[in-house]
Amino acid sequence: MEKNPSHLPELFGSMVFNEDTMKQRLSPASYNAWKKCIENTSPLDLTIANDIAEAMKQWAVERGATHFTHWFQPMTGYTAEKHDSFITPAPGGRVILEFSGKELVRGEPDASSFPSGGLRATFEARGYTAWDPTSFAFLRDGTLYIPTVFCSYSGQVLDKKTPLLRSIEEVSRQAVRILRLFGDTQTRRVIPQVGPEQEYFLIDQDDFAKRPDLRMCGRTLLGAKPPKGQELEDHYFGAIRPRVAAYMQDLDQELWKLGVLSKTKHNEVAPCQHEMAPIYTDVNTACDHNQLTMDVMKKVAKKHHLVCLLHEKPFAGVNGSGKHDNWSLSTDTGRNLFKPGSTPSQNAQFLLFLAAFIKGVDEYQDFLRVTVAFAGNDHRLGAQEAPPAIVSIFLGDDLSAVVDAIIRGTEYADPGKKNLEIGVDVLPAIPQDNTDRNRTSPLAFTGNKFEFRMLGSSQSIAGPNIALNTIMAEELQQFADELEGSQDFQSDLQKLLRRVFTEHQRIIFNGNGYDESWVEEAKKRGLCNLTSTADALPCYTAEKNVSLFTRHGIFTPEEMQARQDIHMENYCTLLSIEGLTLLGMIRRDVLPAVSAYSAELCGRADKKKGLSCRYETTLAADISEKTDTLMAAADQLEADLSRCGGELEEKVRYFHETVAADMSRIRELADALETVTAKEYWPYPSYSDILFYM
Ligand code: ADP
Ligand code: MG
Repeated sequence: MEKNPSHLPELFGSMVFNEDTMKQRLSPASYNAWKKCIENTSPLDLTIANDIAEAMKQWAVERGATHFTHWFQPMTGYTAEKHDSFITPAPGGRVILEFSGKELVRGEPDASSFPSGGLRATFEARGYTAWDPTSFAFLRDGTLYIPTVFCSYSGQVLDKKTPLLRSIEEVSRQAVRILRLFGDTQTRRVIPQVGPEQEYFLIDQDDFAKRPDLRMCGRTLLGAKPPKGQELEDHYFGAIRPRVAAYMQDLDQELWKLGVLSKTKHNEVAPCQHEMAPIYTDVNTACDHNQLTMDVMKKVAKKHHLVCLLHEKPFAGVNGSGKHDNWSLSTDTGRNLFKPGSTPSQNAQFLLFLAAFIKGVDEYQDFLRVTVAFAGNDHRLGAQEAPPAIVSIFLGDDLSAVVDAIIRGTEYADPGKKNLEIGVDVLPAIPQDNTDRNRTSPLAFTGNKFEFRMLGSSQSIAGPNIALNTIMAEELQQFADELEGSQDFQSDLQKLLRRVFTEHQRIIFNGNGYDESWVEEAKKRGLCNLTSTADALPCYTAEKNVSLFTRHGIFTPEEMQARQDIHMENYCTLLSIEGLTLLGMIRRDVLPAVSAYSAELCGRADKKKGLSCRYETTLAADISEKTDTLMAAADQLEADLSRCGGELEEKVRYFHETVAADMSRIRELADALETVTAKEYWPYPSYSDILFYM
């Protein structure tokens, strides 16, 4: 493995068929056609595709590749791939290596095993994948990976990339209209930029192997709290231990080869918890790279005899893992539209984009919440370690003061002297990164971007970004419609800003999101508080949401219904797997273990003829009683698991209210037993064993 840092520039992207490589290896005509294709999203003709395919194949084969695969992002939340070799029979029993433009551009995987939410009738199992030329192909383990979208044969969307690409186009179109109003004639495209911070846990493989809950569910379903958790706050940003450092180094190397801009690594709050943050890039690439990152994280861990846990809550009692989605809009000339400017006109434009964001988030707060509704995330949101389930925006004091001044139509900064006149006055400098590190806000303005913090660590970043892009497109469209015909732009703009900030100021909250009083306050403001996946998911198909996404051509109403169904099914399936896993653990491991231990205690008491046996008998009695209660609780879970039928929405609620409650009850009982059972009898590595192994 390449470890010499001086070679990093050569190492970086060495496994990527990137623009530089294309320029070197394609004919100028093909290179220009590809360039035009990604800039104007114009289709490529087959001769060009053939040319690109040939160059890709040669490049890949030179690096040891034998196969290619269309790589796509079905609704499982994972990526999917099916490898085909380049071989074609040739005379004399030989083979030659071939890869055609047709194979590059289109694939036909059997789609029947991917979730479709009923969109793809079973008689029409075929789906197809189509090359996404805006994301670079790359090489992994002898296979050329081609990023693709995935649709049903009749064109219905079955993946996460298609709607993302659509939303990117849509927000660009509307944002450019706004830029024209401010005299920008240069910008041709506006591109959402995203930097997703990825949290994860690393544990020893031996511990992992001994715990069915970790193996089956990715999280512990049982486990008494260790005497030390994260209270000392000694792990956050702490020195990275050698074994973890070696892992991180290896991870960086692998990610860099794949062109992932891995930048920052550090320990997180919980023991064994870490973070990797890449440098932000265009959202489509960011999304592909994050999927790739999660996969590489798991694979590299194996080499170090570690397991990388991406679950939102692997361990109760210590922090879970999230993924912060840092989002902004940039012009194709590299201007960040959320950067407060230094001229009156730049500031006016900034405020208009800010207003669109605030209005959009307020109007579609429920939908943003839905995009992070996921079984694993239910353990985090609102649990005083992650943002509350209530969506609000943190602006910080400086920017809030500006917004307030606009709402009041009064002086800002210079009391008594001056009104803030949009487009005439310069805004007071809004310091970059003025964040007071308000970690309790779900959506924080951090100087020149918004940080959306509700996403779970295992989730695809596509969902929230599709939502943010589309919401933004909608509001910018409304503003452009209103302002394009204006006779007095300055004054109409000022009125619009004042109206929008006034109507939507309820979504701005700079206080402590963990505070109990915020729940009350949010209720008074009329904000949604969708505390669980079961509460949130039905909002997916709320009329206004369906109308938004269909209006912008992101989804059809059927596709939205299908997606809601897929998410609901997924929730039920995950809870059912957890319930069954827990039941197995209790019946096959825990109950036998505690029974054996209490029998041992009784046996010892018998043998201690004439001596006091208070310890043995009291403990045995206590354990027996708890064991009986645990058995009854397990029976209850089994009965409840066998009863969960009905309509999807009802089923989701049932799992949330009944099955999850049974599981908590079992956990409480089992954890209490763990604390009184001799270590040698307990069937699983304890939290202390797992979390403090280093
Ligand atoms: P912190 O943990 O303090 O929030 P990090 O450095 O871990 O900060 O992560 C910040 C993330 O935000 C990085 O991925 C960074 O590249 C990204 N980022 C910075 N500027 C922008 C921007 N304009 N648009 C989108 N993402 C950005
Ligand atoms: Mg960070």
